[in-house]
Amino acid sequence: MIILSFYEQVFTIAEKVLLKYPLCDACLGRLFAKLGVGLSNTERGYSIKTILSMKLHSQYIKGEVSKEFFEKIAVNADSIVASTYKKLFNTDLILKECYLCHNVLSSRLYEEVAEKAIRELRKYDVTSFLVGVTLDKEILNRELQLLLECGLSYAESIKREIKREIGKLIRDKSGLRPDFTDPDAIVMVTFSRDLKECSVKVEVKPLLLRGRYWKLARRISQVPWITRSGVKKYALSIQEYIEGVLRDLFKAGEILIHAAGREDVDARMIGSGRPLIIEIKSPLKRDVSVEFINKYIDTARNVPIKLHIEGTALRKCIRLLKETSKKSSKIYRVCIYSPFEDIDEAELRKLEEVFNNVTIYQKTPLRVLRRKKREHIRVRKVYSVRATRITPRVFEVLIYCEGGLYIKELVHGDQGRTNPSFTSALNKILIPIELDVLYVEEKVI
Ligand SMILES: [Zn+2]
Repeated sequence: MIILSFYEQVFTIAEKVLLKYPLCDACLGRLFAKLGVGLSNTERGYSIKTILSMKLHSQYIKGEVSKEFFEKIAVNADSIVASTYKKLFNTDLILKECYLCHNVLSSRLYEEVAEKAIRELRKYDVTSFLVGVTLDKEILNRELQLLLECGLSYAESIKREIKREIGKLIRDKSGLRPDFTDPDAIVMVTFSRDLKECSVKVEVKPLLLRGRYWKLARRISQVPWITRSGVKKYALSIQEYIEGVLRDLFKAGEILIHAAGREDVDARMIGSGRPLIIEIKSPLKRDVSVEFINKYIDTARNVPIKLHIEGTALRKCIRLLKETSKKSSKIYRVCIYSPFEDIDEAELRKLEEVFNNVTIYQKTPLRVLRRKKREHIRVRKVYSVRATRITPRVFEVLIYCEGGLYIKELVHGDQGRTNPSFTSALNKILIPIELDVLYVEEKVI
């Protein structure tokens, strides 16, 4: 077995590769990218080609290699190998285009792309970025084939080099910070099949704000409610209000809300407010303090909706907020009317006794069934209730329960589909006439 020195290994591989594939300095250097630090791949490739041209020159003088062999490598290597060959034999060469990058990758190209990216990034109020590169499959296949065929273990990928070089230039020229985990913006560089054309697009990460809203009046939906005939059913929605207030402040595109559940359109959300995350897409402005946002919101008066921002949120918080809200506890206040019979104090105490840590089984409510079509049974707990008589036929109940319980159905029983219900417990027809959400528990997320 022949053991080659490190030096011989590098040059044997370089020679073997260049005999078969035309490669520019950068593409050859990239095959040895893990060797040496503080060098660009172009410098690496040029250095290897320099030593290789010296080696070939010396071998040719000693008669160890032929002119044809030297020429074969010079045609593929271009650069210093070709110029040595041309000087030595006083002849010209028809050079080949780089097998991987078609002679396109150069510091000039990187500069051009970085300039374009910076122009785009400056339109937004971002402080960090990440570069993403899309290359044609053909180039990636060629690269893989070359690495496998030549057993190269010191290489880095072409994609990685492009990302790194452009990223470095953007950082140095703009002062923006590269962030590999949670960047404000992603610079997407997409190359054509032959790499000769490329587009630069900046995708700005939506801004996520965490807060709470209060709905101080009824007949306000959470998102715009459009009927089948295309008419808006309610004049105002929480989403439209938030959009109206925050779009100008952030000079944003679309604004979405992700809330921890939703109350009925005719229920108020008072007390603790309902936690939500606001997603502000493509904001031109993003560096706005929480204090300033809240002051700005407070200027939008005469609206029966209140909003308070607590801070920013991560994307995963949206999923957590939705998941935890399904079961997080709630407190409701419901005003109930008994149309045919009076309700006495003993009956109210009975309600408090029956609905103490009791499990409620709810078939999909009839009012929901029209929209959902599929029926299932929802199982939720009522922890406790407190009832207060207002008139002989009107009383108020505070209900502390698990999230997701249908409160109106808990009161009227939904024709026996909710069990037990206030109606079934008292054996009297009961109608919920006013519903408020007083408290929505927020799990720490
Ligand atoms: Zn190349």
